Amino acid sequence: MDEHEFVPGAAVSAAELARSGLLRVGEATQISPYALFMPADEYGSVRPVEIGTGCRVGAYAVLCGGTVLGAGTCVEEHALVGRPERGYAVRHVYPGTGARTVLGRDAVVRSGAVIYAGVEIGDGTLVGHHTLLRSLVTVGQESQLGHHLTVERASRIGVQVRCSPGSHLTSSCVLADRVFLGAGVRTVNDRELIWRDPDREPELVPPRFERGARVGSGSVILAGVTVGEDALVGAGSVVTRDIPRRIGGLRRAGARAPQQGPGRPAVSINGHSAAVWLAPLLPSLPGVAELDALRVGRFEDTLANLLSRYPVSSRVEPRVRSRRLARIRRALATGGFLGLAVSARDGGCGGPAIVQALMQFTCGYHDADLRDATGLGHGRLIAQHAALPVRERWLSRLIAGDLAGIAITESHGGSQVHATTTAATAHPDGTWTVVGTKTWISRLNEAAVFIVFFKDPAGRLSAGVIDAADRGLERHPAVPCGLTGWAWGELRLHDVRLRPCDILCRPGEGMALLRSHFAHYRPLVAATALGVAAAVHDTVAAQLSERWSAGIISKPRDNALIALGRAYAQINAALLAALTAQQLAESDDHRAEIWGCAIKAHAVDVANAAVADLVPLAGAGGCAVGSPLEKAGRDLRALLYADGIHDSLYRAAGRAVMNLSRVSQQRESA
Ligand SMILES: Cc1cc2nc3c(=O)[nH]c(=O)nc-3n(C[C@H](O)[C@H](O)[C@H](O)COP(=O)(O)OP(=O)(O)OC[C@H]3O[C@@H](n4cnc5c(N)ncnc54)[C@H](O)[C@@H]3O)c2cc1C
Repeated sequence: MDEHEFVPGAAVSAAELARSGLLRVGEATQISPYALFMPADEYGSVRPVEIGTGCRVGAYAVLCGGTVLGAGTCVEEHALVGRPERGYAVRHVYPGTGARTVLGRDAVVRSGAVIYAGVEIGDGTLVGHHTLLRSLVTVGQESQLGHHLTVERASRIGVQVRCSPGSHLTSSCVLADRVFLGAGVRTVNDRELIWRDPDREPELVPPRFERGARVGSGSVILAGVTVGEDALVGAGSVVTRDIPRRIGGLRRAGARAPQQGPGRPAVSINGHSAAVWLAPLLPSLPGVAELDALRVGRFEDTLANLLSRYPVSSRVEPRVRSRRLARIRRALATGGFLGLAVSARDGGCGGPAIVQALMQFTCGYHDADLRDATGLGHGRLIAQHAALPVRERWLSRLIAGDLAGIAITESHGGSQVHATTTAATAHPDGTWTVVGTKTWISRLNEAAVFIVFFKDPAGRLSAGVIDAADRGLERHPAVPCGLTGWAWGELRLHDVRLRPCDILCRPGEGMALLRSHFAHYRPLVAATALGVAAAVHDTVAAQLSERWSAGIISKPRDNALIALGRAYAQINAALLAALTAQQLAESDDHRAEIWGCAIKAHAVDVANAAVADLVPLAGAGGCAVGSPLEKAGRDLRALLYADGIHDSLYRAAGRAVMNLSRVSQQRESA
């Protein structure tokens, strides 16, 4: 059958799907002749179905495109897996695009269960009869979800969790590892019960259950409540306030570390991978559950597979590379990786921002040009600050993979944003027209939308959202020495019209927006740069080992060992600092901006210094054009300027430190 014959909603048999090449089946599988397959989503995008060795799929089970069953998994009769979910939730229409839906090894899906697209389930987890897992839910390994549960969008359930039958978990709920919920537990995320109210937007705050928390049957847990680690809530409770962790805790006898499952990295440099670097850090990172660690590992697998399909090395012609990078971004979008750290209300899949930083380290490890591969990038400004019509226009497109560019820098210098000359003129109908020229703008051709900074008619710095297809935009590309993945150059604005709703926040709030946005963005840049340096480290170490084992060198010299050891320590230390900066930004800490400035500069400096030290150890091959080592050096040099030039960042941090110490001295003397 031809791929084009698969129309949305059409179901075919295993044999028909196999004939079209869209069914990948391992050995010793049992697929009922009555099992059905729906390869196309609402938009007609067709995805394959993968069924691992020893799986069983029962009669009238329906598997949709993008479903992956790990070895030994059983999907019983009448279960539905991987169905794209189209629908409305709190001012957002979910378009019903398909996504990868992954059931780990030896998982069991009981008959009648419904699992929507983008769900990930760990090894050995059981999903009971008639349980509903909505889009982008993640469940860790060896968890047991009883029958008749409803788990709303983007909830995150940890490892070895037990949910007894008949419970309701509201959207974006977090159940950390080893949580136990009795039967009929209800959770609430809405404080005011608002739905489809054009004037008010509900503040949705899901409850959170910390590791080992236990909740008795029939309890109701209200919005925003945290049930602390090992805490015990009696049956039938209505919990309105946080429950502290149980001091002294419960004995965790017999708690086994989950086995390494599909999170193992597929690609490594002589047994190394980004995951090897991250493994010692993960257990000590606050807010990162075992499940998150698993997702980070799985992300590396996904990324490595995509890179093998769409190689982006510097030998690939720039236009082709840019197209491939965009395809990788779209493919990651279907896996929910762009919705990371975006709330479920906005169509994202929630999750801690620190996990995004870990994934950006992984991106850098594979190629610095993947600096936009997770999250919304500069599109976060739209998600956070745009007026409703603009958010509705762009947000679902951004989450689906469209790219946002940011235009700040002008020829007088990017470090002097206060001297911006691009300016708006007001018109009687309330619109403005913007005129000016921006330089060194990345994503020049690829961005679907630009966030442009300019002076408003009152002379205050403001930011507006401009469709990249606007006829008033003119582009003049230049060629950067590094970070060549996206086009780069000058963006001229000729009378570009802005409606009041196109302005981010309020007129005059441009500087505050820039500062808070880059407090979030710079730690991601820092993590990406450190990933680049880590890959160079592993490449050089692997080459030295190979030369040593082949007898080409008698043993590594001291200078090589010292350089490797020093770089290892410096990369790890800077990465921990970048993760701290990310957490400060996430919690809106007043020190987030200083950390963002100082740590971006420090991490990129550390990465540059490590690469400068290490690359000569690989010999002249590291100097050849097209060598990944040479590309790493060029990309890291570009990062000395992109997203803030370093002396200016250190200066900003120094100034902030002086102000902070003056304020505290004044407080002490008062
Ligand atoms: C690959 C890449 C991608 C980029 N992408 C984007 C993008 O998407 N959007 C965007 O807006 N920009 C982008 N940029 C631009 C980048 O943000 C700027 O390079 C950066 O902000 C620094 O600005 P500048 O290069 O104009 O340097 P300047 O601001 O001119 O600074 C140059 C030097 O002059 C110094 N200086 C400034 N003022 C004084 C003074 N009064 N006295 C003495 N010294 C001074 C600075 O400290 C610095 O050392 C990108 C750059 C690169 C390399």
